[in-house]
Amino acid sequence: MTTASPLKSGGPRERSFLVHGATVPAPPLAPGLYVVATPIGNLADVTLRALSIMAGADLILAEDTRVSRTLISRYGIETPLSPYHEHNAAEVRPRALRRMAEGQALALISDAGTPLISDPGYRLVAEAVAAGLAVTAAPGASAALTALCVAGLPTDRFFFEGFLPPRSAARRERINALAAIPATLVFYEAPSRLAETLADLALELGPRPAAVARELTKLHEEVRRGPLDALAADYAAAGEPRGEIVIVVGAAEGRETVSENVLTGELVEALRSLSVKDAAAAVAAKHGLPRRQVYARALALAGAQR
Ligand code: SAM
Repeated sequence: MTTASPLKSGGPRERSFLVHGATVPAPPLAPGLYVVATPIGNLADVTLRALSIMAGADLILAEDTRVSRTLISRYGIETPLSPYHEHNAAEVRPRALRRMAEGQALALISDAGTPLISDPGYRLVAEAVAAGLAVTAAPGASAALTALCVAGLPTDRFFFEGFLPPRSAARRERINALAAIPATLVFYEAPSRLAETLADLALELGPRPAAVARELTKLHEEVRRGPLDALAADYAAAGEPRGEIVIVVGAAEGRETVSENVLTGELVEALRSLSVKDAAAAVAAKHGLPRRQVYARALALAGAQR
């Protein structure tokens, strides 16, 4: 099996794939772009349609060809792979579009999960659409949806944020901007930043229910559930975890049901014995409200009382 130098065609080859030792022919594909989801860890999670499209395509654009070769080799697929990632995308895109316009079928895959979801591909799809080319998706695994399925938090409404900024100040500002969204929040995070991100989430959002889903679909899959502050403390104490992680955070409980009057009354009461900071923290924690929002109100009340 060869890696195509960027966007060169391979010679004649078998357009088929192997499943449990049986060879399955891949039917010819109509020209265009095929956005194909691949597993997020467990290679058995690939779909039959994904295999058929990857085997039938003229070329597979892959984020990291070494990673993707493991998958396609496992299923006996001989389609040439060509790199498509953030560093070469601008150069590769026009040639990919030209090949599709000439009648070829190109499959786009990422290292894991669904392309375009915190992964390259959006611009390629947008430009293919603008050029009048057919764009087809073969859906499959995505870490965000997989984590939502096991988190045990409401799924009727969710907001996918992806990766937060790596620096704490920018991260906290972004979390604060998300605090009012009445939906379960989904984040991707690197293991090296997990503890500090959980601490920032707890600080800005209060002790909302949350889940940390690690190594989903893999041998060491683990889901820890609990309030954000407890999870932050656990991971700060345990040291850096291994593997890949999704953080799922529930919408603040009761945030829509606490009336302005109740909040004000409780803050006035708390301010009798506590500092502005501590009064805000106590009331925010009680209602699962963002501390910053309650602090602003406590500060105003303390000023008015002087
Ligand atoms: N496109 C992918 C998808 O559909 O899920 C996501 C790509 S993003 C570059 C990679 C991030 O997804 C990881 O840093 C991690 O946050 C999350 N992720 C991927 N695989 C995972 C897994 N098996 N378990 C937990 N999180 C995972």
